[in-house]
Amino acid sequence: MYALKYDEDTCLKCRTQDCLAKCQYIDIDKESAKKEILKIAHGEDSSVLHDCVTCYACEEYCSFNNHPFYLIVEKQEELDIPPLPRPIIKRGIKTGIPFRGEPTIEKINGRALLMGAFADLMHLIQGKLFEGLPVISTDPRKMFHYFCQLMYLHYARNSVIKERLPKIIKTIAEHEVTEVVCFHDECYGTYTSYCPAIGMEVPFTPVHFFEYLYNRLLELKKEIKPVKLKVAYQRPCSSRLSPDKHRFVQAIFDLIGAQTVEREYVDENALCCGGTMEGQRREGSRKRTADLRRKNIEDMKNAGAEVCVFNCPACYNTLGQMLVQSGIRPVFMSDLCRVAIGEKPEGWR
Ligand code: SF4
Ligand code: SF4
Repeated sequence: MYALKYDEDTCLKCRTQDCLAKCQYIDIDKESAKKEILKIAHGEDSSVLHDCVTCYACEEYCSFNNHPFYLIVEKQEELDIPPLPRPIIKRGIKTGIPFRGEPTIEKINGRALLMGAFADLMHLIQGKLFEGLPVISTDPRKMFHYFCQLMYLHYARNSVIKERLPKIIKTIAEHEVTEVVCFHDECYGTYTSYCPAIGMEVPFTPVHFFEYLYNRLLELKKEIKPVKLKVAYQRPCSSRLSPDKHRFVQAIFDLIGAQTVEREYVDENALCCGGTMEGQRREGSRKRTADLRRKNIEDMKNAGAEVCVFNCPACYNTLGQMLVQSGIRPVFMSDLCRVAIGEKPEGWR
């Protein structure tokens, strides 16, 4: 019923093959990249289907919006080439079942913040930044009611996303929301990139969390005192689905007087946190992931970062402890913004 909008002619005419030529995890020249992407499109086996670490970045690299990553994931599923071991996939899919019990539907009639799968992180939604903003969340024990399911791209399970997502969208819409501020940019990517790519309707306007924070900070501008911290940003994989919103990272840092350190692995060249790479089936995954994390954190350290700022709770969980051990403080963007307006988030000293 839902079909991926992919156009083979666009790939045939494409001269850059940026989707694969820019990939940081697969070493491939342009000529081979063209051959491989066409093989994938034709449903044939390709080394890319085995070597892809599911970092999402080719969705950003393709300037023709031809959805190479969604295509890779679809074909991994069709050809039964799972990126993760089967028991992990089976368990993960069971964990994220969204509809155990019915959610309580409050009518909002306007804009609301959507917590997605992070009902347990309400301590981040405190203070003036969020005053007057209704929250769509649930009892943390039933936290998957609003889980967008896009995580299953890492599992090559498009079929699960397509099966569960329409009901999640319907549940959100039942709150009678017009604008939905997505706490996690994976939800934002779901509603602004994945859904249009497969022809699934979204009956509300998604708003990126950082765009919301930036605009709210503008309203509170008089209360901002520069934080004067040297900051690095850990770009999450899902940010590759909304590269047009990535600019709000720097815009917020400029507004709150945080100083961005100069790094190698930033913006388009950002490195994945390695959260799902570690357990992948490819030989040597564990070591490669450890090396990747070390490279990423050393880059922050060498650049003089005092703080590493996060959007994604999964990246935070994956890298947080290693950062602390390296003398870099992990912090969520919203907490850093709260500090800038004179508030003291939980655990901030
Ligand atoms: S997916 Fe995009 S970047 Fe890759 S070959 Fe096709 S058009 Fe070019
Ligand atoms: S998702 Fe990442 S690893 Fe996979 S092909 Fe695209 S850029 Fe490469």
